[in-house]
Amino acid sequence: MFKKLLIANRGEIACRVATTAHRMGIKTVAVYSEADATARHVAMCDESVALHGATAADTYLNISRIIAAAKATGAEAIHPGYGFLSENELFAQACAQENIVFIGPPASAIRAMGSKSAAKTLMEKAGVPLVPGYHGENQEATFLHQQADRIGYPVLLKASAGGGGKGMRIVERSEDFTAALASCQREAKASFGDERVLIEKYLTRPRHIEIQVFADTLGNYVSLFERDCSVQRRHQKVLEEAPAPGMSVERREAMGKAAVEAARAVGYVGAGTVEFIANQDGSFYFMEMNTRLQVEHPVTEMVTGTDLVEWQCRVAFGERLPKLQHELMLHGHAIEARIYAENPEKGFLPSIGKLIHLRTPAAAEFIRDADVRIDAGVIEGDEITAHYDPMIAKLIVWGEDRSQALARMSAALAEFEVVGPSTNIAFLGRLIASQPFSTADLDTGLIERHYDELFPAAPTPSLPALCLAAVMLTLDERTTAADPWSQPTGWRMNSHLSRELSFSDASGEHVLMMNYEHDSLVFRSAHAECVITDRQRHGTQLSVNINRKKISAHVVRVGELFHVFYEGHHWQLLWRDPIAHAGEQESEAGRLTAPMPGKIVSLLVAAGIVVDKGTPLLIMEAMKMEHTISAPSKGSVAELMYAVGDQVAEGAQLLTFIHQESA
Ligand code: ADP
Repeated sequence: MFKKLLIANRGEIACRVATTAHRMGIKTVAVYSEADATARHVAMCDESVALHGATAADTYLNISRIIAAAKATGAEAIHPGYGFLSENELFAQACAQENIVFIGPPASAIRAMGSKSAAKTLMEKAGVPLVPGYHGENQEATFLHQQADRIGYPVLLKASAGGGGKGMRIVERSEDFTAALASCQREAKASFGDERVLIEKYLTRPRHIEIQVFADTLGNYVSLFERDCSVQRRHQKVLEEAPAPGMSVERREAMGKAAVEAARAVGYVGAGTVEFIANQDGSFYFMEMNTRLQVEHPVTEMVTGTDLVEWQCRVAFGERLPKLQHELMLHGHAIEARIYAENPEKGFLPSIGKLIHLRTPAAAEFIRDADVRIDAGVIEGDEITAHYDPMIAKLIVWGEDRSQALARMSAALAEFEVVGPSTNIAFLGRLIASQPFSTADLDTGLIERHYDELFPAAPTPSLPALCLAAVMLTLDERTTAADPWSQPTGWRMNSHLSRELSFSDASGEHVLMMNYEHDSLVFRSAHAECVITDRQRHGTQLSVNINRKKISAHVVRVGELFHVFYEGHHWQLLWRDPIAHAGEQESEAGRLTAPMPGKIVSLLVAAGIVVDKGTPLLIMEAMKMEHTISAPSKGSVAELMYAVGDQVAEGAQLLTFIHQESA
């Protein structure tokens, strides 16, 4: 076996490849961009080489720098992961020229499958079924229009050189064809430098079903069965599972055979995926072949008990496939969810930011025979940047059957906590539990069609969730407090033993009364009461008794925003600090009052001076935190009631403010 392997990638896939390499006794070399100097994949590998530069073109896409790194470190083979150079025939050739083994198919197979149109022509010859359409050389607009009319609407225009859904246009009617063609060509040219298109019949309610194939250099081909990747947003996968629900033994065999034929037709070696689009009646058509390991390969590993990276290494080394077709069997059901830094509520736009808090469910990392597996390339404190794909992790679960896998996925998602960028975790939870997904009523339009169910109105936080935020707030105040009224037992001064707290979130504003009673904190909302005892905190972990029930939860405070992870929910509760907002509340009255007891630490303006709206007027200190009281509008201070150092009681008038308009 190889002694040393260079991994020409980053993130979770680089970590995942390194894990298998280490298990096989292969030393690993990481390469990294400037942005990734402290990344997890670098730490996981035995050696690392900096690829100077920050852009992908200078680093993970730079063939000569990567080859130089392999030569400098004596790596005998390069694993390209997915994306970046994994489907670049020039890279495969460059490796061959330098006597470095490229862990992937021969350059000729990459080329043959690189163009969707050329691949279709090849597949047609090999007898693999194709979606009715046109994928020929003639790109003349009127000719293409005639072809679309012949195929019958709706049709789908695709960029021949395409990928990632770019250039794809659905055309519903003949009269829309010309404009759609021009726009598809423009996007194809801009994205791939190649404006050629192909036309397919647009299937309604199709499923995306793909077959994992493998081949060795000795002429053995196998199918490792199918994955269903129908649940997509923006033509990109969100959930993947194996086996495909409802797949009959006969159809599995037929699809496996077609996929193996496709691989054989191009002299394939290594791991590849043949993607099909399937009708609800089960008829299926070739879409394209991906000549690399796919993001979603773990579901196949789980149901076949294989390690596909190990297979890749063995095949690249010249060994026979570890298992032949008759030795491969399906066992149980696996589902993968891609945890993305993105905002589902805002059209799934990517989100960026530091992973301030990251807690994952109990899981094995990169291990094929776990019930819950996480493949992640980041740890808490890492940054999700705009440079790379915003995937945080892949969460993969296995169950004896689909319903057990669903239950495990729901439970694992409920334990996945992220503070920092927005994520799709809550959305994934709703998707897994949704009626269409849980009953396997799958097709590529599932998310759009069930939009209302998947995006319900924001739920109202329970009183315990609000209490957890409030308790964290009081504990924060205790650790920073020295004044007698802010001691842990309550606000002694002026006999303030009761306090109103207000939090807001997407569901509205939530007001609760907090009372100190003996050793307990008692919270009351309009409908419920919670008695809290035994408050304990370790960092972000809060342990309390709520109504005599012991609970533990993470509460992460970022400024005035409290992230409460409780009962599988991520509540984001914005505390309305009454002192900070005193100006706003009192602006109409012209009296600015202290809604909480505190001390005047600074007076910033003298009476009579005209100030603009928002100008800081005075600073109060409460709970050892400073709060600025600002001008509610343009105007002037008529009178200041207190001097620096004075203690003020709740509700005391601090100053009189004259609005400019009324002055
Ligand atoms: P890309 O390579 O750009 O990702 P694909 O050809 O793999 O494009 O298609 C991506 C997705 O688009 C498919 O998974 C499917 O959801 C949808 N799609 C592709 N072809 C068709 C078709 N003929 N009819 C309906 N949907 C399709």
